Amino acid sequence: MTGKIWTHSGDSHFLEPEDLWHQILPSSQADRMPRTRMISDDEELVEVDGKSFTRKVPRVMTAKGSTGETMTEMAHRPPGSRDVKLRLADLNNEGVWGEVMYQSIGFWCTLIEDRALIAEAARAENEWMVDELKGAAPDRLVPAALMPVLEVEDSVAEVYHAAEIGLHVISLPSGQVPGREYWNHKEWDPLWAAAEESGMVVGFHIGTNGDPVKYRGRGGAIINYVESGRDGIYAVMCLVSAGVFDRRPELKVLVSEGGATWVPYIGDRMNEAYRQHAEFVRPQLSKLPKEYLYNNVYASFQHDESAPAAMWAMGYQNVMFGSDYPHLEGTYGHTQKTLHGLFDDVEPEVRERITRGAFEELFPHITIPEEVLAAS
Ligand code: MN
Repeated sequence: MTGKIWTHSGDSHFLEPEDLWHQILPSSQADRMPRTRMISDDEELVEVDGKSFTRKVPRVMTAKGSTGETMTEMAHRPPGSRDVKLRLADLNNEGVWGEVMYQSIGFWCTLIEDRALIAEAARAENEWMVDELKGAAPDRLVPAALMPVLEVEDSVAEVYHAAEIGLHVISLPSGQVPGREYWNHKEWDPLWAAAEESGMVVGFHIGTNGDPVKYRGRGGAIINYVESGRDGIYAVMCLVSAGVFDRRPELKVLVSEGGATWVPYIGDRMNEAYRQHAEFVRPQLSKLPKEYLYNNVYASFQHDESAPAAMWAMGYQNVMFGSDYPHLEGTYGHTQKTLHGLFDDVEPEVRERITRGAFEELFPHITIPEEVLAAS
């Protein structure tokens, strides 16, 4: 294909204004919310509600940003990182129309242990998102609701609140919530029921499970990068195996940034377990595990050259492109090159499904206008 390829993104991020928490919460609460600052050339300090820890900053980023910016700021260099109007100009240049927008610093909210604090912060931030993010381009921007997850009643209440004010997706940590059961446990059933009932898509962004450095020494950078996708896979494996989609057939889950070819792979492994270990399997499911994965689970990737084949060669229809704007791992600055590399040699139906169809199935209020497509 020649010309511009327009796509949606199932994986993008916004950078919170530096004073966001103070804009939307009383100081006594705002002071306890996550913040980051550089404390040396290659180390960032993260502070959340009385806890703090440091993390290493990649050298490439230190070299670029020796002026005291935090790592989070350095990772958000595109002009529209902080300004939603400039963001839309960036998206137009890149050829990205609609996008799911996850938080940035807000991912550290999983470290908050005060139930009331996170419930009130989530409520306030979600209202801010509707006004400042969705409000800027409701036909394009889909900010993901911050969720309190310390008690399931709070999660349920915020699902309904977020839906009511006009959000379409909730962001859940892909890993196990500290002190709580993992996602397969029945204590979370009311959350899945609420998400299904209110039509909220459940978003699991990979790497939202605390410390990303599990392996040290040789090969660590690559091993940890791949490892960070593991939790997204296990989260949906939990839901499928526990029969969540059997009971909640309309529930839709999006795993962002973790690639797509794992879905057929995990589906095969789960089906084998389901058949060959049938006498141990509880609960019994009304369909094979892979069918729930293929029907209810959507998966976004950015550069993976094998991802389109998950659709055309392995029958998994819910493969979705994601730009990961404005992160280093994403395609900012080379989105068109990436899209042409991925799709120039595949059937147009495959390109259209992965760039637009899967996304529009989750968010039917978003479509790329004909005149935009025609002009490219
Ligand atoms: Mn991302």
